[in-house]
Amino acid sequence: SPTIGILALQGDVAEHTRHLEAAGAKVVPVRRPEELESVSGLVLPGGESTTMSRLLDVYEMYEPVAEKIQAGMPVYGSCAGMILLASEVVDTRPDATWFSAIDMTVRRNAFGRQVDSFEADLLVDGLGPEPLRTVFIRAPWVEDVGPDVTVLARVHAPDGRDHAVAVRQGTALATSFHPEVTSDIRVHRYFVDMVRGATS
Ligand code: GLN
Repeated sequence: SPTIGILALQGDVAEHTRHLEAAGAKVVPVRRPEELESVSGLVLPGGESTTMSRLLDVYEMYEPVAEKIQAGMPVYGSCAGMILLASEVVDTRPDATWFSAIDMTVRRNAFGRQVDSFEADLLVDGLGPEPLRTVFIRAPWVEDVGPDVTVLARVHAPDGRDHAVAVRQGTALATSFHPEVTSDIRVHRYFVDMVRGATS
């Protein structure tokens, strides 16, 4: 089974660990550059993207992670993790940085305060015909994608429009929502399959 790392500087690490293990992966927390060497995929969990960005700097993890992503290591970012994978971020702090792993503009805290947490049943490409229960917690949405990005799911948002909330570009996967807080492991299984495909 593949070994998958979870960036464990901040955020919901335990929940992702359980889901990845249920999906058949070995899981290790990653806090230092050398811990990246043993993993063949990496999860960037939800939390707070500007805090994670600062901690990536403090722990001197930004460059090592960026290099691994550029070299083709599969990566999955959920919520704050999605923000970290964007090529452009709207409404973040001026000193925040991110990885530009997916050609997309992401709007941070897009769903607004009064409805900053909600759930929806969404059809997600690649997960089969059963809708996925999705949980959005102060979530970003994808405002714009480049030609190489596949949109896997959209949600009808409070602004009355549909917005992309699950995307993939090559070996990078991102969701606005938190699949680790439900009992459905299909997103994690999808990512474990991506890692298997990249290493075989
Ligand atoms: N709003 C958070 C951010 O900007 C993301 C929230 C989450 O990860 N649940 O990073």
